[in-house]
Amino acid sequence: MDYKKYRVPTKGKINLKDYDPDDSSEFDGKKKDGQDTLLKLNQEIEALQEQMFAEGKRRLIVLVQAMDTAGKDGVIRYVFEGVNPSGVRVAAFKAPSAIELSHDYLWRVHAQTPGKGEIVIFNRSHYEDVLVVRVHNLVPQEVWSRRYEHINNFEKMLVDEGTTILKFFLYIDPKEQAKRFLARVEDPTKQWKFNPGDLEERKYWVEYMQAYEDVLNKTSTDYAPWYVIPSNKKWYRNLLIANILRDTLKGFNMGYPEPPADLEVYHKKLLEMTLSDEV
Ligand code: ATP
Ligand code: MG
Repeated sequence: MDYKKYRVPTKGKINLKDYDPDDSSEFDGKKKDGQDTLLKLNQEIEALQEQMFAEGKRRLIVLVQAMDTAGKDGVIRYVFEGVNPSGVRVAAFKAPSAIELSHDYLWRVHAQTPGKGEIVIFNRSHYEDVLVVRVHNLVPQEVWSRRYEHINNFEKMLVDEGTTILKFFLYIDPKEQAKRFLARVEDPTKQWKFNPGDLEERKYWVEYMQAYEDVLNKTSTDYAPWYVIPSNKKWYRNLLIANILRDTLKGFNMGYPEPPADLEVYHKKLLEMTLSDEV
């Protein structure tokens, strides 16, 4: 699957209006085929993640940003289906606590970055500090406008020190969001997810898109690129991200760690043990 066109270029300026949230043009097949392909990708990702954990050398951040209902939780559930929880962790960034606010805005983020062999999924991230914070004037413009540069430098440091960073913006349109809110309200098993406050946030859609556009234009870098993922179709969203993740993991060219010395000797001993009741 070719996903180059969803990667935000590091030069020039993109306009979100040029992306179509309904797009599913890079997959040659129907929804069902897409879902079947995802299941195969899940198995590949599972095996590669196992290897990453065994090797214990690389670190990976999968960062997901989106408007409400665009599918951050769905991506986490369906793209990472089957991975070994020992090596994968989700870090969710909500409104900062008092102690978090008493530090700089990257403090809580740095604390969640992966250790060797680990994948950390960022459900929201430091980008909230130039998104919600900007849209709601939580700090003055002179403060948030400096942050793009901090963020680029922070991510550069992480990458220089051996972390890989994938950044996904799940792009839906307001009509799709309304449909998904409605589905939550109508389904007794989803009603708990409905937060009336999210409807207030929706009123700032235009401001959010402006803020996202600036994020994409200012912080898509060669070392930590953004992808705009068309997300009106959930299956296509999951498939695209799974492809990018699989290719990224494959690109690590991992091997398994060296086995202990004298493996042959142990092999022989173990064969004998299986034939005897002695310990
Ligand atoms: P989500 O909305 O991510 O699916 P949730 O509904 O469980 O998760 P919420 O209570 O909505 O959790 O928490 C996320 C909220 O926290 C969002 O409204 C987000 O904008 C806000 N938030 C995250 N980071 C910051 C920040 N740095 N400053 C202010 N608000 C933030
Ligand atoms: Mg929420």
